[in-house]
Amino acid sequence: MQIAIIGSGQLARMLALAGWPQGFSFSFLAEPHENTQSVDGLGQVVIRTNNLTGIQLFQALGEPDVVTVEREHVDTVLLNTLKPFCAVYPDPNAIEVCQHRGREKQFLNNLGIHTAPFRLATTLEQISSAAATLSFPVFVKTCEEGYDGLGQWVIRNNLDLNNLLDYLLRQNANLPELVIEGAVNFDRELSLIAVRNSKGECAFYTLTENLHKDGILLSSIAPAKVSEALQDKAEAIADKLLNAWRYVGVIAIELFQVGENLVVNELAPRVHNSGHWTQAASISSQFSNHLRAISGLGLGTTKTTDIVGMVNLLGTKASKDIVSMDNVQLHLYNKAIRPGRKVGHLNLIDSNRAVLESQVNTIREQLYQA
Ligand code: AMP
Repeated sequence: MQIAIIGSGQLARMLALAGWPQGFSFSFLAEPHENTQSVDGLGQVVIRTNNLTGIQLFQALGEPDVVTVEREHVDTVLLNTLKPFCAVYPDPNAIEVCQHRGREKQFLNNLGIHTAPFRLATTLEQISSAAATLSFPVFVKTCEEGYDGLGQWVIRNNLDLNNLLDYLLRQNANLPELVIEGAVNFDRELSLIAVRNSKGECAFYTLTENLHKDGILLSSIAPAKVSEALQDKAEAIADKLLNAWRYVGVIAIELFQVGENLVVNELAPRVHNSGHWTQAASISSQFSNHLRAISGLGLGTTKTTDIVGMVNLLGTKASKDIVSMDNVQLHLYNKAIRPGRKVGHLNLIDSNRAVLESQVNTIREQLYQA
């Protein structure tokens, strides 16, 4: 089976690395200036040109059986033009909802799923009035294209608000559409990786606890130390979403835990950094299960018996001592090191939670003093 992936970064790389042993072959669609080193040697890379018709793109990608994505910021109009020729998973409609924070929150709320309280704003007056209604602190985020903490401001008081309004006024461009969110006083940041195949079968990995710095994921531990009831609540949220969309593939749901309740922060209609630990933990990683789902296979088990950790390599390599540890699995993305750039990650596994947590913390501190 031939699979085309929109994008050529590390997620495309890890999908292809999981798919090669299963006999799949791959092609990748890259933007004109996109760095494609991560997928070197893993399949044909097609550079996108303007005004491609569906049939032209289908042929350029090697007439794939299925097209999928490694990121949500893709041209969904272009994706829809591929539909007469091959399956496109997940459906572009679901991707389109996830491209816009406002649309996404509205969609979740319509399904009865909780998010932070929010208002949309396209003028400076609307930002001020949203901040007044929601009360400080508030998070101001661009509705589109923001990720990993970019296009995002935390506003704690009137001084912060005035500084942001001045900054936005000084930009000589139209104000981007913004979402203003009330702050959620969370106990933990969690995520759930879920998957649904075309027969409607769903599977869920165990909740993952994530540690971020400046909006960027530093490390994860799974299973998160939460009650079974909370895992059930997270799976119920995922089930609702997946079935509402008749979704096919992996979705990541980023959550805030507030006591025994869950608030959805963000959705990613794709494999996700907070699910990388599944490479070390299960018969089917998130990458393998995404491929099983989109190729019409039954899903692989998502069960984990050990405690698993993941530490991102952000603008740094791991030392020889770290990668020599007998429970550490190194993944590199074939990218040059630049400050802050995700160039790889480490997965760690142990039967003892305290040992694993301490090892993850020590490695994270060695790498980032954080
Ligand atoms: P995001 O880009 O939406 O994933 O936000 C990046 C990080 O900012 C999250 O991982 C949280 O740590 C924090 N954050 C974002 N929105 C909120 C909110 N409404 N309340 C509290 N913390 C938030």
